[in-house]
Amino acid sequence: MLLFEKFSVAREARTALAGAGADPTDVVFDALNSATEGVVKGRTTILAGTNNYLGLTFNKKCIAAGIAALESQGTGTTGSRMANGSYAAHGALEDELADFYQCSNAMVFSTGYAANLGVLTALLGKDDVVLLDSDAHASLYDGCRMSGADIFPFKHSDLQSLERRLVRLKDRTSRSLIVVEGMYSVLGDCAPLAGIVALKERFGACLLVDEAHSVGVYGERGCGVAEAQGVLEKVDFIVGTFSKSLGAMGGFCTSRHDVLGLFRYVSRPFIFTASPSPAVVATTREALRQLRTRPELKDSLWSNARQLYRGLQDLGFELGPKISPVVAVRCKDRESALANWNKLLEAGVYVNMMLPPATPGGASFLRCSVSAAHSPEQIRTIIKEFKNLEGGH
Ligand code: PMP
Repeated sequence: MLLFEKFSVAREARTALAGAGADPTDVVFDALNSATEGVVKGRTTILAGTNNYLGLTFNKKCIAAGIAALESQGTGTTGSRMANGSYAAHGALEDELADFYQCSNAMVFSTGYAANLGVLTALLGKDDVVLLDSDAHASLYDGCRMSGADIFPFKHSDLQSLERRLVRLKDRTSRSLIVVEGMYSVLGDCAPLAGIVALKERFGACLLVDEAHSVGVYGERGCGVAEAQGVLEKVDFIVGTFSKSLGAMGGFCTSRHDVLGLFRYVSRPFIFTASPSPAVVATTREALRQLRTRPELKDSLWSNARQLYRGLQDLGFELGPKISPVVAVRCKDRESALANWNKLLEAGVYVNMMLPPATPGGASFLRCSVSAAHSPEQIRTIIKEFKNLEGGH
């Protein structure tokens, strides 16, 4: 069938990955012992490739909140909020998020991906313009494309490139949205938000920041990079996910613009999908409560990040630009990334393999992410197993 011909590329890619040992896109955790330890093919494995920054996935209070919600509200909502009604907890979570961000409005989506599609397609139309950081996540690209707006990518975190794009837009700047992330997920670098805010104000543009990886990680209160850089109240729309620091699933948007309240009536990724299930909402609310009241979680995360970054740096690995809970080890090429990823897994350390085209600059990386729940001993083991890799990184 001609229809299936296009899959030959995917078939070849799968064969190449499987040829190097285990396929990084198909790792199975047969059991989870804790937030930082799983079992892969019978081997106890340190989880160093999650986004479980605060280590809350096995938190007893979060689990108890989920069980209580299952028992009192059932397993699922079985429909969308517009067609089938909201549960009180959806609204309560939105109020808590609005309070956390000190915004008038918050909106919850079923995933972080849906939040980006939902916000961008509601906000942008064919007469609008979006200035998109070139390293932005696929969900931001997809949302921009779906919106029908004109998309002008600018060089990653490059203020001059962004300024040039804005100058060229002339009077279209008042219909333009700048789209960036807080902390970027591959190298752990942060957007220069203070500079971006200055530009958006000068040109009268709007700004959306995806803080998916920075909630609970950056900022004194844990709101993200915008808070850390002192510009939180200048950002027009903040989006984020519940699937990383909050250890659940779902996404959100907060804004100080009342228009966000109208997104519910026009945002198809909000309207045409089932609302988050009671257990997911309950664990998210409890995790958010802990994020807000337990600063020691963020302290442990950063202490672990420093330990891993410095340990790998001392071994001579080429890492991202600065200490971050995402520690990306640059590999010589695709083959060495694949071989070393396999060696680490066989040694009981699971990291993420990041290959082009999904990587900055077309390079290959072994991406480690640190959790507040890692013990210093686990971090030492990760460093030791990197040391055992023979050259080739
Ligand atoms: N935005 C960014 C920057 C992300 O990295 C991700 C997930 N990797 C998402 C959005 C999507 O979030 P979710 O997995 O919760 O759908």
